[in-house]
Amino acid sequence: MLETSIQPLVLMYHGIVSEWTALPKGREAGADLYDVPTVSFQEQMEWLKTERYSVGILNEATPFPDEHRVILTFDDGEMNNYDQVLPVLKKCGFRAYFFIIAKRIGESGYMGWDELRAMHEAGMVIGSHGFSHEILTNLMDSQVEEELCASKKYLERNLNITIDAFSMPRGFCNNKVIRMAYDAGYKHVFISDRPRALKLECLSRVAVKAGWLIKRFEQAVTGTTPAHERVIGKSKSAIKRVFGEGIYDWVRRVLVRI
Ligand SMILES: [Zn+2]
Repeated sequence: MLETSIQPLVLMYHGIVSEWTALPKGREAGADLYDVPTVSFQEQMEWLKTERYSVGILNEATPFPDEHRVILTFDDGEMNNYDQVLPVLKKCGFRAYFFIIAKRIGESGYMGWDELRAMHEAGMVIGSHGFSHEILTNLMDSQVEEELCASKKYLERNLNITIDAFSMPRGFCNNKVIRMAYDAGYKHVFISDRPRALKLECLSRVAVKAGWLIKRFEQAVTGTTPAHERVIGKSKSAIKRVFGEGIYDWVRRVLVRI
């Protein structure tokens, strides 16, 4: 599969939180940088609705050109996705992707099977985010295969649906792990920033961050991100590629607040 240059804009969310939201214990360092307040999320969805963006899922029949389509994705499967996100999406008539860490289903602060079933019944797409949230590029091939296949089967067996979308845990990927995801039976693979050396087709995503005001959200959707942020984004990708997870986490903490 070769890289395709045109894709709809895909936004990547994690937690959507209000001051009463109980956050899961044992989240990864820096997870709070992506905790979008519920009021901001509502405002963002209302803006998409007012501006008549087509918000839906891939391969859906839509008269809209790709430039006017937005795909929403939510990683990690936190309970706030059910409490805070689902009501807003239902109200707007939007569908979205929810990528679940199989091992954490039903743990405190994460959705359980009942919530996942309700999501599916409401038209949301459930995808896999790996079994344990391990960074796949750090693992041996047999472990990667296990993360890809065991999570898929576990979700499929318990929800009685086909799982054909995968999002890369922590965004680290290379040609090999993406190829393995397709070999495991996934049809759509979502990443975050696209590494330059990546040859395979997959969907890159724009991360919506905790402190974004509505203006910054509009810039992300309309492709008018301020130049200094584009430079920072490129630097972060390069650091991630060269140094790996430890240094990247540190840099992310410093840069993401700019
Ligand atoms: Zn994740």
